[in-house]
Amino acid sequence: RPTIGVLALQGAVREHVAMLERAGAHAVPVRREAELSEVDGLVLPGGESTTMSRLLESFELLEPLRARIADGMPAFGSCAGLILLARQALDGRPDQQQLGGLDVVVRRNAFGRQVDSFEVDLDFAGVGGGPVHAVFIRAPWVEKAGAGVEVLATVPAALVPGDSMPEDPAVGEPEARIVAVRQGSVLATAFHPEITGDERVHRLFVELVREA
Ligand code: GLN
Repeated sequence: RPTIGVLALQGAVREHVAMLERAGAHAVPVRREAELSEVDGLVLPGGESTTMSRLLESFELLEPLRARIADGMPAFGSCAGLILLARQALDGRPDQQQLGGLDVVVRRNAFGRQVDSFEVDLDFAGVGGGPVHAVFIRAPWVEKAGAGVEVLATVPAALVPGDSMPEDPAVGEPEARIVAVRQGSVLATAFHPEITGDERVHRLFVELVREA
């Protein structure tokens, strides 16, 4: 069984631990550099990416985590975790740090300011057994993905909430949006697979960790 850490500074830590265990991993919370150095892969949960980036700095985890990701450690980010793994975050705070690992540009809180959350069933490449029920909570989307990034799931234009940033001319009319990606052994979703009782996305990550 691979040992997979869950970054435990903030957010849905227990839910990810439970899903990883169901998916066949040994899951441990990670708060310190010594703990980080012992895991085969790491989950970055949802929460608030600016807060998490500040906590990474105060727990002296930012540089060690950047180094492990650059060194090829598998990582799985959901929601705020996707934002942290992105090369660049739009609508972020100036002091927000990026971990890298994903050659994508994300837009924070992208699915609208009125509609804070919504749920849709999505086809998810690499996940067998039918669509994945995806819960979005103040979620980002991937606005640009580099050539090395595999798109695993998109929200079709018709299902993008209609009030999605009407005041932002850079965003415009609803269009299909990328909400799950993989680059090598880095996986990320804009939604929260840890809260639906369906561990298939976590199984995909456990497989990536086994292969790495
Ligand atoms: N809106 C949050 C952020 O920008 C992410 C929300 C979430 O993780 N559910 O960091």
